[in-house]
Amino acid sequence: MVKERARILVVGGGYVGMYTALRLQRQLRQEIGRGEAEITVVTPDPYMTYQPFLPEAAAGAVSPRHVVVPLRHVLPHCRVVVGEVTAIDHARRTATLTTLATDEEGTGPRRLTYDELVLAPGSVSRTLPVPGLADHAIGFKTVEEAIGLRNHVIEQMDIASSTRDPAIRDAALTFVFVGGGFAGVEALAELEDMARYTTRYYHNVEPEDLKWILVEASDRILPEVGEDMGRYTVSELRRRNIDVRLGTRLESCADRVAVLSDGARFPTRTVVWTAGVKPHPVLAASDLPLTERGRLKCTPELTVEGVTHAWAAGDAAAVPDLTAGRPGAYTAPNAQHAVRQAKLLGDNIARSLRGEPLRTYAHAYVGSVASLGLHKGVAHVYGRKLKGYPAWFMHRAYHLSRIPTFNRKARVLAEWTLSGLFKREIVSLGSLEHPRAEFELAAGGKPSDESSGDPKGSS
Ligand SMILES: Cc1cc2nc3c(=O)[nH]c(=O)nc-3n(C[C@H](O)[C@H](O)[C@H](O)COP(=O)(O)OP(=O)(O)OC[C@H]3O[C@@H](n4cnc5c(N)ncnc54)[C@H](O)[C@@H]3O)c2cc1C
Repeated sequence: MVKERARILVVGGGYVGMYTALRLQRQLRQEIGRGEAEITVVTPDPYMTYQPFLPEAAAGAVSPRHVVVPLRHVLPHCRVVVGEVTAIDHARRTATLTTLATDEEGTGPRRLTYDELVLAPGSVSRTLPVPGLADHAIGFKTVEEAIGLRNHVIEQMDIASSTRDPAIRDAALTFVFVGGGFAGVEALAELEDMARYTTRYYHNVEPEDLKWILVEASDRILPEVGEDMGRYTVSELRRRNIDVRLGTRLESCADRVAVLSDGARFPTRTVVWTAGVKPHPVLAASDLPLTERGRLKCTPELTVEGVTHAWAAGDAAAVPDLTAGRPGAYTAPNAQHAVRQAKLLGDNIARSLRGEPLRTYAHAYVGSVASLGLHKGVAHVYGRKLKGYPAWFMHRAYHLSRIPTFNRKARVLAEWTLSGLFKREIVSLGSLEHPRAEFELAAGGKPSDESSGDPKGSS
């Protein structure tokens, strides 16, 4: 028997939020039809971002619209609230949130009460107190950042092509990426591939004029694909003239000069920071138990430890890894776990509402695939190691099968097919980010948000 009008609040509309709500919507369809349960999803954007496609979006191989899934399309039986949860008082079953309307009305934050809480706000970039980082660097977690970066890179090539000052040209054509995980390596490899191709349309910018630097503090990159494939990736990137610096840290990027711990200095207008993630800060604004690393302490059933009616999964949750064979091991923050945990989480909430026993989460990591540009990749899946074209093909096939909804699969496939038939897109639409600038100028004013040539301000 389902409890009367169980109010389920899902915080976050990413992998975990969307898949949990989808599962609940399906599981509780009849009950929702009779008005016995309601699901509210609170999320800052009305779409879920398929993050593994962000590097391809940056390279122009997939349109930004097609790497996101509109939540209102896929969750017609849920209430989608575009807003941000800022605090949670679970003892009182109350969440505090701000929405676009609360900003407009000036009424202050709103309170929302619930019976069941699903906390899935994911993670944010883990930054360090590096001088200049907050002013000049950009992350690579959102579709806005991916597209901003694409536009910025192409604009730097335009700057280099039109300046007579060698210092400006050098800085424009130097791109520094910090962090050798998935996001950093794939983003750098895809953008380098795109930029190298784009040089054929410039009369005075050659591929060898571009300087790409990957800075990684540990002695390896892409740990997700294993040691061998990580080493292969380093040699493949170096073969492409990418300067991979292991055991090195970014010490400063103040005054538009990247200073590394090995003493190297690179004047640059582009610093991309992908040196890891940390749990979302909203977790600290709750009365729920956290690990020393700030993730929510969870049980293998995906409930939050020591409290009732609170659930979590994904990057924000420390879920015991029952397949690791040692106590204290947690599942890694990646999409592979997030999707599987979300499905079990949805099922377990439905089971708990029906008074049925809960199931535990156990999934052994099967490996990873990564794209390193068009027709290049690396993979280590189910013990099999692949590189080059086969790995790239596997990357595309895998992610095509994984991106949610048939609609998105069809659109992505159509784009890949068309880009195989025609030339690559090399256009930068940075001006889309300042749509009023031209009109403001025509109307006699001064553009309010001038392009700064900085990826954050985005050019
Ligand atoms: C570039 C890139 C490439 C990647 N590639 C891979 C890959 O190939 N394979 C792989 O396994 N993993 C990959 N990952 C990691 C994977 O995307 C994450 O592990 C996964 O998204 C985690 O899911 P999640 O639901 O916990 O968080 P997310 O998907 O990040 O969702 C969190 C959601 O919560 C929302 N939110 C945040 N704060 C609030 C708030 N205060 N109130 C309400 N909502 C909030 C966010 O806007 C977001 O919608 C990649 C990540 C990146 C950045």
